[in-house]
Amino acid sequence: MRKLGIVAALLALLCTVPAPVSAQKLYWTTSGMFGPFDIKALIPTYPDSKQVTIPISMWVLDHPKGLVVIDTGNNVAISDGKCKPYWVAGFCDMLQPSQKRADVIDMQLQKLGYSTDKVKVVITSHAHLDHIGNIKMFPKAIHAIQKKELYQAWWPEKFQRGGAFVMGDFADARDFNYLELDGDYDLFGDGTVVVLSTPGHTLGNQSVKVKLPETGTVIISQDAIWMQANLDGYPAGLNYSILDYTNSVNRLKMMRDLENAKILMPHDQDQFATMGNKWYK
Ligand SMILES: [Zn+2]
Repeated sequence: MRKLGIVAALLALLCTVPAPVSAQKLYWTTSGMFGPFDIKALIPTYPDSKQVTIPISMWVLDHPKGLVVIDTGNNVAISDGKCKPYWVAGFCDMLQPSQKRADVIDMQLQKLGYSTDKVKVVITSHAHLDHIGNIKMFPKAIHAIQKKELYQAWWPEKFQRGGAFVMGDFADARDFNYLELDGDYDLFGDGTVVVLSTPGHTLGNQSVKVKLPETGTVIISQDAIWMQANLDGYPAGLNYSILDYTNSVNRLKMMRDLENAKILMPHDQDQFATMGNKWYK
């Protein structure tokens, strides 16, 4: 009898289901908006003139293995109409950033119940001013970025200068913990968050694929694809390499089709209007 009891106890132990790990969830927010301006300013081949006001997408991923931020938006210095002189005048005049102080990533995290010092990983898609703007708010985080993009941030090709890389965004952040990537990377080693190398827009642009338990797989394209017009065959007007850009767009499209995924586009006003400012589980 006693033996049976021990066996039963062992069986019970073996059959104990571990407490479920809380699943990841993703929030889509924006660092204010750019615009309005003619879509042709961004996409010169677009057939029609159309005024657009576009989001500056940032993402908060609450994952059981750590809190992740994907892109940190425009620098806090340009909030509340103070764009010049932090950005060059031409960018302020053309982009017309509407960012308020409350739109900046630290305040967005606070609104969601987090703080900047709880962020374990910052994934920066690329080093343009609307994506890397506030990495300095995360001195304790691991910063996942393509190594090539770090080179480009500090010394862009001449044709890619002109204000889109702002030294003030990252010059004091050289000694941060950079996870210097060279290609794709499975962030937590379990396939739930995969950084995808999608060069073209810049030398080391990257996107992020996230598997969500209810929503399914989403691909956060972050400037590999700006908006629907790019998916419709009109390329972005700002590229390091049009060949790499085209390959990256096609790669993400095929990944979308093969994995039944949804592409979430950082500067698409219509998609953000319906899907932004929401949690995805
Ligand atoms: Zn952008």
